Amino acid sequence: MNTQHCPQCRHPISAPSLRQYDDYFICPHCHGALSHNETDIMMYALGFITLFTPVLMMAAGMNIFIAMVVVMLSYHLLRPVLIERFFRLRLLDLSPLSQPENQPTSD
Ligand SMILES: [Zn+2]
Repeated sequence: MNTQHCPQCRHPISAPSLRQYDDYFICPHCHGALSHNETDIMMYALGFITLFTPVLMMAAGMNIFIAMVVVMLSYHLLRPVLIERFFRLRLLDLSPLSQPENQPTSD
Protein backbone atom coordinates (compact mmCIF):
# COMPACT_ATOMS: atom_id res chain seq x y z
CA MET A 1 0.00 0.00 0.00
CA ASN A 2 1.11 3.54 -0.73
CA THR A 3 1.10 5.66 2.41
CA GLN A 4 0.54 9.32 1.68
CA HIS A 5 -0.96 12.26 3.50
CA CYS A 6 -4.39 13.71 2.91
CA PRO A 7 -4.02 17.32 1.64
CA GLN A 8 -6.99 18.38 3.76
CA CYS A 9 -6.63 16.73 7.19
CA ARG A 10 -2.93 15.71 6.92
CA HIS A 11 -3.62 12.22 8.24
CA PRO A 12 -1.59 9.43 6.68
CA ILE A 13 -3.78 7.49 4.27
CA SER A 14 -3.29 4.52 1.97
CA ALA A 15 -4.15 5.90 -1.43
CA PRO A 16 -5.70 3.33 -3.78
CA SER A 17 -4.07 2.60 -7.11
CA LEU A 18 -5.14 4.77 -10.04
CA ARG A 19 -6.80 1.70 -11.52
CA GLN A 20 -8.95 1.20 -8.43
CA TYR A 21 -11.04 4.35 -8.67
CA ASP A 22 -12.71 6.35 -11.43
CA ASP A 23 -12.83 10.04 -10.57
CA TYR A 24 -11.87 10.26 -6.92
CA PHE A 25 -11.61 8.36 -3.65
CA ILE A 26 -12.73 9.38 -0.18
CA CYS A 27 -10.38 10.14 2.71
CA PRO A 28 -11.34 7.84 5.64
CA HIS A 29 -10.56 10.62 8.15
CA CYS A 30 -12.13 13.81 6.80
CA HIS A 31 -14.25 12.31 3.97
CA GLY A 32 -12.72 14.73 1.49
CA ALA A 33 -12.78 13.71 -2.18
CA LEU A 34 -9.21 13.10 -3.29
CA SER A 35 -7.48 12.17 -6.50
CA HIS A 36 -3.92 11.97 -7.76
CA ASN A 37 -2.51 15.12 -9.29
CA GLU A 38 -2.93 14.95 -13.09
CA THR A 39 0.18 17.04 -13.72
CA ASP A 40 2.27 14.58 -11.74
CA ILE A 41 0.70 11.64 -13.58
CA MET A 42 1.68 13.20 -16.93
CA MET A 43 5.10 14.47 -15.92
CA TYR A 44 6.24 11.16 -14.44
CA ALA A 45 5.11 9.25 -17.57
CA LEU A 46 6.86 11.75 -19.84
CA GLY A 47 9.99 11.73 -17.68
CA PHE A 48 10.13 7.95 -17.57
CA ILE A 49 9.76 7.63 -21.35
CA THR A 50 12.29 10.35 -22.23
CA LEU A 51 14.75 8.94 -19.71
CA PHE A 52 14.60 5.25 -20.56
CA THR A 53 13.92 5.24 -24.32
CA PRO A 54 17.45 6.51 -25.18
CA VAL A 55 18.94 4.13 -22.60
CA LEU A 56 17.33 1.11 -24.29
CA MET A 57 18.30 2.38 -27.74
CA MET A 58 21.94 2.70 -26.71
CA ALA A 59 22.28 -0.22 -24.30
CA ALA A 60 20.23 -2.77 -26.24
CA GLY A 61 20.59 -1.31 -29.74
CA MET A 62 16.81 -1.11 -30.16
CA ASN A 63 15.11 1.00 -32.76
CA ILE A 64 13.30 4.00 -31.29
CA PHE A 65 9.79 2.63 -31.88
CA ILE A 66 10.50 -0.73 -30.25
CA ALA A 67 12.33 0.99 -27.40
CA MET A 68 9.35 3.32 -26.79
CA VAL A 69 6.88 0.42 -26.77
CA VAL A 70 9.06 -1.50 -24.28
CA VAL A 71 9.44 1.58 -22.07
CA MET A 72 5.71 2.42 -22.14
CA LEU A 73 4.82 -1.18 -21.32
CA SER A 74 7.35 -1.21 -18.46
CA TYR A 75 5.92 2.06 -17.16
CA HIS A 76 2.41 0.66 -17.29
CA LEU A 77 3.48 -2.35 -15.21
CA LEU A 78 5.74 -0.48 -12.78
CA ARG A 79 3.58 2.58 -12.11
CA PRO A 80 1.19 1.02 -9.55
CA VAL A 81 4.08 -0.64 -7.71
CA LEU A 82 6.83 1.97 -7.76
CA ILE A 83 5.70 5.32 -9.05
CA GLU A 84 2.20 6.16 -7.85
CA ARG A 85 3.38 6.77 -4.29
CA PHE A 86 5.25 9.85 -5.55
CA PHE A 87 2.19 11.48 -7.10
CA ARG A 88 0.80 14.30 -4.99
CA LEU A 89 -2.80 14.01 -3.86
CA ARG A 90 -5.23 16.82 -4.43
CA LEU A 91 -8.52 17.68 -2.84
CA LEU A 92 -11.51 17.93 -5.16
CA ASP A 93 -14.25 20.41 -4.43
CA LEU A 94 -17.45 18.56 -5.20
CA SER A 95 -19.89 21.10 -3.81
CA PRO A 96 -22.34 22.24 -6.52
CA LEU A 97 -21.98 25.90 -5.52
CA SER A 98 -18.34 25.93 -6.59
CA GLN A 99 -19.27 25.13 -10.20
CA PRO A 100 -19.25 28.37 -12.23
CA GLU A 101 -22.37 27.44 -14.23
CA ASN A 102 -24.40 27.14 -11.02
CA GLN A 103 -23.54 30.54 -9.66
CA PRO A 104 -26.34 33.11 -9.70
CA THR A 105 -26.13 35.50 -12.62
CA SER A 106 -26.93 39.19 -12.38
CA ASP A 107 -28.62 40.86 -15.32
ZN1 LIG B 1 -8.47 13.70 5.03
